[in-house]
Amino acid sequence: MKIENLIPELKKNGVELPNLDLGKLSQYAALLKEWNEKMNLTSIVEFEDVVEKHFLDSLLPCALTDLNGKAIVDIGSGAGFPGMVLALAYPSCQVTLVDATKKKFAFLETVKETLQIPNVSFKIGRVEDMKEERETFDVVISRGFASVPIFLEVGAPLCKFGGEMILMKGAKGKDELKDGRNAMDILGLRYGKGKPATLPTAGDIRWNFLLNKVKQTPSKYPRDWAKLLKHPL
Ligand code: SAH
Repeated sequence: MKIENLIPELKKNGVELPNLDLGKLSQYAALLKEWNEKMNLTSIVEFEDVVEKHFLDSLLPCALTDLNGKAIVDIGSGAGFPGMVLALAYPSCQVTLVDATKKKFAFLETVKETLQIPNVSFKIGRVEDMKEERETFDVVISRGFASVPIFLEVGAPLCKFGGEMILMKGAKGKDELKDGRNAMDILGLRYGKGKPATLPTAGDIRWNFLLNKVKQTPSKYPRDWAKLLKHPL
């Protein structure tokens, strides 16, 4: 889709961002294309595809909750989706991008410096090892990182009591969410709401879901990565 259509398309999907900086997003897309030649960041590099499948997609979850002023963590952020885009769109929130692959952070640092996004910070490492950050985030989000039970097990401990978790899923999102019911009960989460969207040129369906953290997560979670992969909740 054309970048000029991004703000109206977001509005159509319940996301009001009239001042979204399209110039900075264009710079982001250019950096993504340039850096992707030297490292594997994404399979989507053509400008109009990046606008639709990375930028629009990253911002669709904002229809579910007001992110202003919140502390957000994006688990398995890769090339910065959705977290970097959220930080750019909501300057009043603090976004932490977590990823286990160290080399991607040279790219993310370059994006932060070039686009001047002061409210984003980086955590290199495995999410299941983030003990100090337990219960410190208002919103825990991720895209393309793991199945629902696994994301919930590593993400719920980072979420404050009263905070929210956001799942970004595709056309089969509702079925995937069902696989997470047991994990939700165990981890202190309750289903809040879900919203579908259609990407305007690709026609792909997206489902975004919001869960509320209504109880403290038992301290035995998250388990070791090997264990939680082998025996998902
Ligand atoms: N969110 C991005 C990238 C998805 S790929 C997007 O949608 O485009 C999944 C990412 O999760 C990879 O960058 C990988 O390095 C990271 N990852 C996988 N397991 C992880 C773990 N246990 N802790 C932190 N990051 C992890």
